[in-house]
Amino acid sequence: MSILNVAVIGAGTMGNGIAHVFAQSGFNVTLIDVKAEFLSRAVETIKSNLARQVKKGTLSQEDADATVGRITPATDLAVAVKPVDFVIEAATENLDLKRQIFQTIDANAREGVIIATNTSSISITKIAAMTNRSERVIGMHFFNPVPVMKLVEIIRGIKTTDEVYAVVKELSEKLGKTPVEVNDYPGFVSNRVLMPMINEAIYCVMEGVAKPEDIDTVMKLGMAHPMGPLALADFIGLDVCLAIMEVLYDGLADSKYRPCPLLKKMVAAGMLGKKTGEGFYKY
Ligand code: NAD
Repeated sequence: MSILNVAVIGAGTMGNGIAHVFAQSGFNVTLIDVKAEFLSRAVETIKSNLARQVKKGTLSQEDADATVGRITPATDLAVAVKPVDFVIEAATENLDLKRQIFQTIDANAREGVIIATNTSSISITKIAAMTNRSERVIGMHFFNPVPVMKLVEIIRGIKTTDEVYAVVKELSEKLGKTPVEVNDYPGFVSNRVLMPMINEAIYCVMEGVAKPEDIDTVMKLGMAHPMGPLALADFIGLDVCLAIMEVLYDGLADSKYRPCPLLKKMVAAGMLGKKTGEGFYKY
């Protein structure tokens, strides 16, 4: 199956990065969001990220210009998905919103199209079941910032075919990424392993085992992590960490995934980390 034309749905943090890497790898990208202003902001972000690559000498000005030239903004999802070969959804993490988007894709995209989602925490099998073509739905989980991070978790829903998996694996490699095959369980591999570690670090703060900066130092200098778990939690957003712990707790029904009460309290207080100026650290 040859893929040339790609639709990226959602032009936020992840969508603009995904559009960037597809366009830079030679694909024609239609970038879709609900408002024209969100799209122009995303294109500006892509331009400034490309300019950084040019400045570093990893990309020519000509290739940067060609990359921007391959991105077409659009606000009408039903129209925009009609001609494409591949769709990747990176809209806001909300089940009802995803249902609406996947039903629109299902009603308008051509037969044979592969439909991927970048969701961090919703079951791929559940999203696939929102369409009448669940065998062609798959998870393609990128990491932030997308142009920099090499990993793609490819998540197979219960009905995803081997052919669809193989195409998405090859596609990930064409983007210069390293794909990893994962079956659909709560949190996939990345958040299943990462979030309980962050949650445990928060328990250590709550119980007074050590101060946040000291917990982060232990993990940085003792385990060679580039960033401590609490600084990482602030970067991800404590609300996002809590939502993912709840997905693990509900989905796996095991008390070892219970969200730390201090995490809940900080989210209730609006201390969400970097984006609100305060979390385990002040910004
Ligand atoms: P974001 O809030 O930065 O961007 C979401 C975008 O979706 C917004 O621009 C919003 O206007 C747009 N949107 C909302 N409704 C839409 C619709 N009906 N049609 C088209 N666009 C619509 O969110 P994000 O952080 O980029 O996350 C997007 C997805 O990627 C989520 O599913 C999230 O779980 C996943 N994800 C996020 C990260 C991360 O680090 N932020 C990492 C991996 C995966």
